[in-house]
Amino acid sequence: VTKAYRAGSHDEILKRLKAGNARYRAGQPQHPRQTAERRREMALVQEPIAAVLGCADSRVPPELIFDEGLGDLFVVRVAGNFVSPNVLGSLEFGVEALGVRLIVVLGHDLCAAVAASLMAVSPVAELPGPLRDLSHSAWLHSGPGPLANVASVVEAIAPGIRDGQLPGREAFDAAIDANVRFAVEQLRNSRLIGARVARGEVAVVGARYRLESGAVEFTDSNG
Ligand SMILES: [Zn+2]
Repeated sequence: VTKAYRAGSHDEILKRLKAGNARYRAGQPQHPRQTAERRREMALVQEPIAAVLGCADSRVPPELIFDEGLGDLFVVRVAGNFVSPNVLGSLEFGVEALGVRLIVVLGHDLCAAVAASLMAVSPVAELPGPLRDLSHSAWLHSGPGPLANVASVVEAIAPGIRDGQLPGREAFDAAIDANVRFAVEQLRNSRLIGARVARGEVAVVGARYRLESGAVEFTDSNG
């Protein structure tokens, strides 16, 4: 069941997300479409304007930082916002069944999952304070055993940040952006999403969220 694509260009959707983020950043969110009436309206249908692949980090909730409401965003969150078969399947569902036309891969600065992966692939990189201790923790890199699932998150991020490593302090920001780029590429290479990107029906963009300022910076708006 393929949904007809709704009107509205990718630029218009991006503009709406940027406007919502500007309100949030300024401390003037409207909290739109969160009434009991909206909830009832949305019980049987959903028409999200965009999908977001974001980090599980409690400080990066897409609906809040884009000032959107119920039924507006199709959100997939996993620590380190990386693509796995289940994540890809969820986003493909959003595109095919719900008619989502824009996918935002939303990384964020000071991401602990990326920090832990960076320590695994590039121990010479420098991390800020608390993240340094956390990402050196043996339990994040423990391999088989009861912590294998936690370690699998660290391992899943590693391939995307292995290339283009920088020494020292720049390494962390570069790894966060590389991780986002890698996910964007993987989504564009999905047979299903890729075909729609080629036809101009769907766009996949990367973005970086700043924890302190609340700003979302779109790093890659091509495709
Ligand atoms: Zn994170």
